[in-house]
Amino acid sequence: MVTIAERLDNAYARIEKAKQQFNRLEPVDLLAVSKTKPIADIEAAINAGHTKFGESYVQEAIEKVQHFSANKQLEWHFIGPIQSNKSRHIAEHFSWVQSVDRLKIARRLNEQRPTNLKPLNILIQVNISGDVNKSGCQLSELDELVEYIDSARQLTLRGLMTITEQTDDAQKQLHYFKQMRACFDRLRDQYPQLDTLSMGMSGDLEQAIAAGSTMVRIGTDLFGKRQ
Ligand SMILES: *Cc1c(COP(=O)(O)O)cnc(C)c1O
Repeated sequence: MVTIAERLDNAYARIEKAKQQFNRLEPVDLLAVSKTKPIADIEAAINAGHTKFGESYVQEAIEKVQHFSANKQLEWHFIGPIQSNKSRHIAEHFSWVQSVDRLKIARRLNEQRPTNLKPLNILIQVNISGDVNKSGCQLSELDELVEYIDSARQLTLRGLMTITEQTDDAQKQLHYFKQMRACFDRLRDQYPQLDTLSMGMSGDLEQAIAAGSTMVRIGTDLFGKRQ
């Protein structure tokens, strides 16, 4: 049986290989997506030295965050769709939110982030393929969100996130990832503090790194298939 520690090593090796192949010099971070997976799996990853975890379901996520609350090294990223009646839990328990895609949610997170905690790190999720069934803001809505989050006292804008549609067409994915990178570079001209472009998952990590991802989010390749 392959252990989670070995799977982590393999994921890092895969990232390194892609960086070399596509000549990417920036660091590429790995977010371990542990949604639906048990505490024991997260523990195995922590024991292997990993600290950054992504969760998508609020109830389940909070139980995990609380279970590991004594470990101050851990960084929890919320990456799932956000219902406004759940935003308070997210504001109170996470240090990053990658799935902010509308003003209403950004405002609530800012108001609900406890003032004794550091500002919440925010990525704006962009629906780059314009697919009506996907979450994420449209490109035309991006500037308004950026301006608000940049000005919000309890939020720190760190960059952008995208999920592309599941497709075997690597060229199409590369095209969307490149559009995201161009958008990120354009924003960074104006907001030089932006440092995170979160794109690429188990199935499309290479294309994402080729286009300039700075953070890949890996679930299946680390923890196995989800039910
Ligand atoms: C589930 C999920 C992932 C991980 O996907 P895998 O294909 O299992 O690697 C990444 N990002 C988001 C936003 C997810 O919801």
